[in-house]
Amino acid sequence: MKIICIGRNYAEHAKELKNDLPTVPVIFMKPKNALLLPDKPIYYPEFTTDLQYECELVVKITKNGKYIKKKFAKKYYDYLSLGIDFTARDLQREQQKKGLPWEIAKAFDGSAAVGTFLQINESIDVNNLAFELKLNDKLVQTGHTKDMIFSIDYIIEYVSMFFTLNIGDLIYTGTPSGVGPVNPGDLLEGYIAGEKILCVEVK
Ligand code: MG
Repeated sequence: MKIICIGRNYAEHAKELKNDLPTVPVIFMKPKNALLLPDKPIYYPEFTTDLQYECELVVKITKNGKYIKKKFAKKYYDYLSLGIDFTARDLQREQQKKGLPWEIAKAFDGSAAVGTFLQINESIDVNNLAFELKLNDKLVQTGHTKDMIFSIDYIIEYVSMFFTLNIGDLIYTGTPSGVGPVNPGDLLEGYIAGEKILCVEVK
């Protein structure tokens, strides 16, 4: 499986990191070893002093496909969850300054936390979903999928032009504003429509 991530998909978040709004989705990937399974802790990596959370809606691909048209994209994902795109912000800034790739800042072991998956049914409209992240019980991020610059279906069309999507692949769809640092001892909890989906302890 592969983990595909979209960067800068919410205008407010692009602004908070002083990035321009993208005209096409910004794509990067994380390897399989980045996956942090539900309720597993993340161990604060030794190579950063600025580990940050980015809470994102995650969709799971349930059908193989390439060159998937937006109007058929819904047939290719049946489950959604919340994830944390953990980012070593200090390394990311250094890499960006030098015009170098982001992998060491974003694709390290355990950098893709994921929660439990909900099956998408008629009662879930993926384009009209609210989610939130609490850090030590304090609300730090609120997101709404209607604020995405690129919709999930368009992301699937765009990504699948370059990369075949396979069953089990995960797509992290970008973070809303409110990203920030974590420290050992912190607890992150993610909710979709009031239901707790994600729980990650920082050790
Ligand atoms: Mg992100």
